[in-house]
Order: sequence, then structure tokens, then C-alpha cells
Amino acid sequence: MKYDLHLHTTASDGRLTPAAVVGLARARGLEVIAITDHDSVSGINEALREAANSPRLTVIPGVEINTDLASGELHVLGYFIDYMDEDLVISLEKIRESRVGRAQKMLGKLHDLGMPIEWQRIQDLARGESICRPHIAQAMLEKGYVATEKEAFDKYIGRSGTAYIGREKIRPVDAVRMIKLAKGIPVLAHPADISDLDNIIIELKEVGLVGLEAYYGQYDNNTVKRMVRLADEHGLLTTGGSDYHHFGDDREVPLGSVDIPEDSISALFQSAGRMEQYKKK
Ligand SMILES: [Zn+2]
Ligand SMILES: [Zn+2]
Repeated sequence: MKYDLHLHTTASDGRLTPAAVVGLARARGLEVIAITDHDSVSGINEALREAANSPRLTVIPGVEINTDLASGELHVLGYFIDYMDEDLVISLEKIRESRVGRAQKMLGKLHDLGMPIEWQRIQDLARGESICRPHIAQAMLEKGYVATEKEAFDKYIGRSGTAYIGREKIRPVDAVRMIKLAKGIPVLAHPADISDLDNIIIELKEVGLVGLEAYYGQYDNNTVKRMVRLADEHGLLTTGGSDYHHFGDDREVPLGSVDIPEDSISALFQSAGRMEQYKKK
């Protein structure tokens, strides 16, 4: 496996620094990776700097924007984004601020349930970056309120948990537009579980959706085939990745372990007008 286009770092809820993720990708002999943190581009500079010493490894600047549907969340990946774009940085900052309010409300509920957590601890775990629910799960585990982080989600902070708070809603079309405005390639992340997927694709294509993450780490062969067929039907390109966070649990798909066809990668570079960068390798 030579590619992995879905990786998280400490700029959101990943447990490795951007430099460490690049180091791991290099050690595994990968050729192209993308850094795709939730609602944040603040890990990209460090990743690019680290990769500058690795002529064989290309790092695509990316992002994963979390948005909402009535039936659940929908994530939009953006590749080759201009991560210095001022409007993008401001829009992402606004989204991250809504995460702070939400996390504080969840801590309030946990407090009422007899499980107090200091806000400072959550900030320390997030290291000043995007505050995500896994940070709360981590703090709950540290306090001994739960035996595993999964239990924290199942009982308390997951969608049907007793301390769950929904986020300020962000529409999928707005995320696609945000990525387009920053000259990025919008791709629908881990799409298989989205209900009414066909119609959502049609709606998002109208505002500029370009791809579907068909080769997702947790998908079996049949699901991948179904997603590739769907992408074909809608004239979308396909991408793929592990969604690696370095969570350290054994269900996690290892970085660089997803089989993504070379054609998908070259189509992505082509679509971004970056074939030169691709051929150089
Ligand atoms: Zn996601
Ligand atoms: Zn992800």
C-alpha cells in the first residue's frame, strides 16, 4: 500500500503530532498522504515541513469538515486546499468555537451525573486545537468514570448517551462551498452509512462535490465495490484512507493499510491540476 488520504493529528483528535504522522508514513514507505484534521488546518505546516526532507513522500494539505444531517453526521474532506486562505481559516475557527461551547455543555451534564471533569484538562488534551469528543472520553477514562473510551461514547457522549449535546448545525453544502472557495477538491468522507446517499450526492454535486471516499479503512470488499459503482454512476472520482488517529485500540485500521488504486490517486492530482507534482515522484 502506498497511499493514505485520511489521517488525523494532534491538530484535531489524532494522538500523534503532524511530524510523527509523516514520520510513520515515511517509515511504512508511503508515497502520498493527506493530513485531514477535523475542522482544522493547523497541522499542515508542520507536516509539510517534516515531509520536505522526504523526496519520496508527498503530503496533500487537507481538512475534514464535520457537518450535520437530520439522520446524523456527514463529513466532507477537502484536498489540496489553500490552507492559508483567510476566509477558510476564519470559517474553521467559527466551527471550532462551536465545539468549545458544546464540549463545555457536555461537561456540565457529566458533572450533574456525578462525573466532574476540569475544563483545563480537556484543553490540555486538545493542546489548543479542535476540541473533540474523544478528548472528553480520554478525560473520563483518566478519572476512572469508564473502563474504556468506547464505554464513554456508548453510555454518555455518543449520540444516544445521557450527556450528549448536539452541535450547532453546519450544512454539508456549506462545507463543500467552503472547500471550493479555498481552491480545494471536496470529497464525501466514509459515505456508505449515509441514508438517502444518492440524493445527497446529487445535491452536493451541484455545489461542487468531486469525489467519494470509496476505499475507506473499515469497509469490506462489497461495500467498496458498491461505493466505487456509485461514484461511477455520479461521475465522481474515488479516494481512500485509513482515518488513522493512533487511538491505540485494536479495532483501529493501521495507517497505510488501505488498498487504493493508483488510478484514483492520479485522478485526484489531475483534478487539482497537480499532475506535475504527481509525476515528479
Ligand atoms: Zn469522518
Ligand atoms: Zn476522519
